[in-house]
Amino acid sequence: MTSSDRRDGTLPSAPTILREDAPGKLNLTLDVLGRRPDGFHELEMVMVSVSLRDELTIELGTGEPWAVTCDRPEVPTGPDNLCWKAAKAYCDAAGVDPQGLRIHVEKRVPVQAGMAGGSSDAAAVLRALNRHYGRFSEEELRAVGLTVGSDVPYCLFGGVALVHGRGEELTRLPDLPGELNFVLVKPDFSVSTPELFREIDQAEVSARPDTEAIVSAIRRKDRNAIGANLQNAFEPLVAARHPIVEELRQVLLAHGAIGARLTGTGSVVFGLFCSKFRAFSAALELEEFCPLVHLATALPAGVFKLKK
Ligand code: ATP
Repeated sequence: MTSSDRRDGTLPSAPTILREDAPGKLNLTLDVLGRRPDGFHELEMVMVSVSLRDELTIELGTGEPWAVTCDRPEVPTGPDNLCWKAAKAYCDAAGVDPQGLRIHVEKRVPVQAGMAGGSSDAAAVLRALNRHYGRFSEEELRAVGLTVGSDVPYCLFGGVALVHGRGEELTRLPDLPGELNFVLVKPDFSVSTPELFREIDQAEVSARPDTEAIVSAIRRKDRNAIGANLQNAFEPLVAARHPIVEELRQVLLAHGAIGARLTGTGSVVFGLFCSKFRAFSAALELEEFCPLVHLATALPAGVFKLKK
């Protein structure tokens, strides 16, 4: 069956299967600039997408009620899953009916980790549907993504980006210099993002990133300056409740990381390494006291296709 068979609105004889990867992201920086009149926070972040990714299988034309499943029990299935919300938003905005839809997510990105796993799954659904139906331009797809979640517009395009607003203003930055390796470690706690935003509203931000400095370091491909300028406004708040954050950072730095930080509101802590060997030895040590440790690299820009 070719994709043109499905555009005339007839029910295909067998489901069409689309596959799409959904990489996690890391915050090289995260700053909270204030609260907006619409209730969202004004953010300034430098994000990078990484090789650790979920794998989605999307079936169209099943002729059955919609279903979303995941191999991890802690992730909601059905209409509460962000994949469902993304598919609904796309179909409503595009005015298409897939005649039955089934999505299965193989989760590799840690959940409630500050890696935007759910948003990236949602973005993957939007990309796959847009390649299939071809209805929207990049900008239009970004607007549909924003109705699903603040991180979805970034996740649609990935790569290295400077992100403003609640997540809708994106400036692409050059790829990170080669041979940078990330070690990601997820300690055994999760954080309530809304609670942390409430807390930061009342606190003076003590760990303010120098966004200009890291953007300039990325443009100059200066690895040490990138490492030195990793910063996250939430880290002191999370580390005050969970001392393991600082302990993990120290292990990463002791193994030669050029920088180590919390991503998003946590709980993943990552280290940035110039040497793969050092990254590997840090991962080996961390595995002894944290079950979830991953090695990853930065994904280059342009790996996602939004159109045929
Ligand atoms: P962020 O970095 O955007 O704050 P996160 O990494 O902290 O995201 P997610 O892994 O995206 O958090 O999950 C947040 C919540 O979203 C989960 O607790 C889960 O209930 C819900 N959720 C809905 N759909 C998904 C999905 N496809 N994958 C993961 N979580 C999902």
